[in-house]
Amino acid sequence: MHILLMGPPGAGKGTQAANLVKEFGIPHISTGDMFRAAVKEGTELGLQAKACMDAGKLVPDEVTIGIVKERLAKPDCKKGFILDGFPRTAEQADALTGILKELGLSLTAALNITVPAADLIERAVGRRICKSCGATYHVKFNPSKKAGVCDTCAGDLYQRADDSEETMKNRLSVYEAQTKPLIAYYEKAGVYKEIDGRQPIDDVKAAMIAALKG
Ligand SMILES: [Zn+2]
Repeated sequence: MHILLMGPPGAGKGTQAANLVKEFGIPHISTGDMFRAAVKEGTELGLQAKACMDAGKLVPDEVTIGIVKERLAKPDCKKGFILDGFPRTAEQADALTGILKELGLSLTAALNITVPAADLIERAVGRRICKSCGATYHVKFNPSKKAGVCDTCAGDLYQRADDSEETMKNRLSVYEAQTKPLIAYYEKAGVYKEIDGRQPIDDVKAAMIAALKG
């Protein structure tokens, strides 16, 4: 199972990646984790990436692609992987196809967990977090018993600045623009599968597994 996982911010990609890890016993490879690991291991590419990040610059494509290649060549990826956060452009998608070919692998599916923007905005705007214990609530879908107070520890609930309507709208439009060419790329490659992320968590999981096995 060599899986590419896509989905807008707030669509539950993290939860579903964890579900796939459990289901198939394959590693979840997110770009952030991959960078941190390469920096920690002190590989040449890791050091180059660190130098860029420390200078507040974007990590160049060739470095990112190199790090992805090193990671996917590790033995734990033989059985499969869940790649998350890479590729971000059609050029990177092309590079990934090349890497997989070199490794004698091919992508099983590019799964895109889709949720309409209006739903994602509603989810984000209603989210409340406990200042003391970090528990999360939603004013509509998962309200605390007493408004503004945590059920578990009686701490104050707050709304993250990132969870505003405007921030979400911006993030979603950036995401959409970025993802469009990738959808076209993987549709053309015949591995693109759309998963309805509005369903309950377990149904999303079942739909992903059905799409992977079908
Ligand atoms: Zn709490």
